[in-house]
Amino acid sequence: MKKIDCDKCIQMSHCCQTGSWADLEEAKKIVELGLKGQFYHLEKDDDFPSGYRVGTCIDCNPCTFLTPDGLCSIHIIDYNLKPKMCKDFPYEKGELAPFVNELCIMHNLSKRKKGKKSSKKSSK
Ligand code: SF4
Ligand code: SF4
Repeated sequence: MKKIDCDKCIQMSHCCQTGSWADLEEAKKIVELGLKGQFYHLEKDDDFPSGYRVGTCIDCNPCTFLTPDGLCSIHIIDYNLKPKMCKDFPYEKGELAPFVNELCIMHNLSKRKKGKKSSKKSSK
């Protein structure tokens, strides 16, 4: 399903600049890893399996699980424990996620390339 390949991303931390959401049960397992990051903003959300979600940052700041090198500290330890929302991004429920334009650098690059191609065609 994924058309945008994160393995080919030129700046993987770009989509982590405003954090993410984790299911409360995912967050409990991540907390056990003892990493530096923290969770904030516990909210009820029926789209998440437990019925609750928690954020990985305060307001619109970078994810607190991001390392100074721009890597995901959860992914480094255990990819399986990475929040599903992060694994799926830039997709959500099989579609491009909301905020993909703001957060996914590769999505924007491919849009720009397509735009250039179509403007070349139309200039002939
Ligand atoms: S948990 Fe990891 S992948 Fe998700 S936003 Fe934070 S650093 Fe990025
Ligand atoms: S979602 Fe977009 S910005 Fe984030 S790692 Fe994948 S390609 Fe890069």
